[in-house]
Amino acid sequence: MKYSIRILSICIVILTAGPVFAQQSADSVAPEASTSLKPVNSARPVGAKKWMISAANPLAVKAGARVLRAGGTAADAAIATQLVLGLVEPQSSGLGGGAFVVYFDAKSGRLTTLDGRETAPMDANPRLFQDKDGNPLKFFDAVVGGRSVGVPGTPKLLDQLHQRWGKLEWTSLVSDASSLAKGGFEVSPRLASLIARDQKRLARDAETAAYLLPGGEPLQAGDILKNPAYAASLAALSGGRSRSFYFGDIAVDIVAKIRGAAGNPGVMRLPDLQNYRIIERQPVCAPYRTYEICGMGPPSSGALTVGQILGILSPFDLKSLGPDNPESWRLIGEASRLAFADRGRYMADSDYVPLPVKGLIDGDYLASRSALIKDGAIFDKVTAGTPKWDHARLYSDDDSNELPSTSHISIIDQYGNALSMTTTIENGFGSRLMVRGFLLNNELTDFSFRSQRNGVPIANRVEPGKRPRSSMSPTIVMKDGKPDFIIGSPGGSRIIGFVAKTIIAKLDWGMNVQQAIDLPHLVNRFGTYDLEKGTAAEAMAPKLEQIGYKVKLRNLNSGLHGISINADGLQGGADPRREGIVMGE
Ligand code: GLU
Repeated sequence: MKYSIRILSICIVILTAGPVFAQQSADSVAPEASTSLKPVNSARPVGAKKWMISAANPLAVKAGARVLRAGGTAADAAIATQLVLGLVEPQSSGLGGGAFVVYFDAKSGRLTTLDGRETAPMDANPRLFQDKDGNPLKFFDAVVGGRSVGVPGTPKLLDQLHQRWGKLEWTSLVSDASSLAKGGFEVSPRLASLIARDQKRLARDAETAAYLLPGGEPLQAGDILKNPAYAASLAALSGGRSRSFYFGDIAVDIVAKIRGAAGNPGVMRLPDLQNYRIIERQPVCAPYRTYEICGMGPPSSGALTVGQILGILSPFDLKSLGPDNPESWRLIGEASRLAFADRGRYMADSDYVPLPVKGLIDGDYLASRSALIKDGAIFDKVTAGTPKWDHARLYSDDDSNELPSTSHISIIDQYGNALSMTTTIENGFGSRLMVRGFLLNNELTDFSFRSQRNGVPIANRVEPGKRPRSSMSPTIVMKDGKPDFIIGSPGGSRIIGFVAKTIIAKLDWGMNVQQAIDLPHLVNRFGTYDLEKGTAAEAMAPKLEQIGYKVKLRNLNSGLHGISINADGLQGGADPRREGIVMGE
């Protein structure tokens, strides 16, 4: 039997005085026979000395690069990048969504996280996603319309990034997105194919339909698309900062759209928007080998679950085993299953439910979980553990659904500030509701639709003002108190596996950032092993089946964007599974 691995052709243009620029696209992928899981093509990362940015769309990366070249900080560049992403990749993130940022401030040497997650309106209750008999709604019946929309966090998050760490004028950070919205941009192949696949749902909102399905026909790749409504929203943002979003006409239109959504209205009111706040939180850091893996704590399950997986794997010598050995994947699979069991039981918005953050990544607790992993065999059933914590028996396992869209931005600036930001409107095109040139999120469907099981409450149930649990895992790997590796990805709850794999590939298997991203995905959350279709990961199928796993081949659409900070400079990688690029200088 022959297996194939995708070869990434990366074109690297090195301009003597200009930026180092690498672009990768799915079109440049050519098959070659191989049985090795190693990215034998040895894809080359992009190198630079001063600054670097990696994100999901070339126009957005260029906007960020322009800011970095002009002396802007990582925070400045993230703002410019996000505003363009909201235009050119509207299915994934934007003003109508939310995001998490992990930020390293070089001057103070301090790492912090900002929580810009969407919140449930004050009129929401645990039955939001249940029918009149208390049964969970079907996923898309809940998603499309006003019910699923949480109060957006991204506009205020951008404002705060600028207030805390910005250097350039706020208005200058809006200008690239604004010119593109007015002058038009080319619809990318990915955007066109996602529109084509989602026409029925997109057609349910007149504004969305008029924009993405003009004349009833889906936009095609290469079409030039203008968005004057978005340009006007940006003008408001440029002049009035985020206040113009939460207090002005834009807020009024958001509420009207949500409450007026035919068949599936929501309950948001103006005070929900006016009271929205960004929460600064302690980063969650878990040790792995000689590194600290730092990321976003609750309401994200990201850093805790990535940290648990790596912590549980700590006693095992993955380095000697290597990526081609099924035993490595058995260990990673079992560690992931143990971590996901705890995630389902305990992780939610810690402002609402007591949560054993420290207990879940406590060394002794993780060692006790590692000790459960069998020799050569797999668990029949995995259950949540009991971290040292007196609430441990109070919750039921949860039930929530996350499907891939979302985007990840990694940046390091010339001052040494580092930013890792995962940004989302949840499902592709979110709630499908469009207001003033941007789409509203459906983030509330990241809550558990069920609120209890046999009378035992579920931690991630809907509650007024609460933030739905996320899997987003914006990460900065720290070494000796300094950033070593910036990484993150979209992918719903598979984000956790994508990020953990990339960290293992880099730290244990010595791959460079591009190789680590390219390495085919093998992801285990609840028992079934998902192997990335059309890659060398398929070769692992019979071996993993033999060990006892159920295996599924599927497209695993990560969007990993990473930067490695090495002694001799910066190296960046962008995920060939999407349309991103890296730029640096
Ligand atoms: N809404 C998801 C979360 O916050 C992310 C969705 C995705 O990656 O597509 O975890």
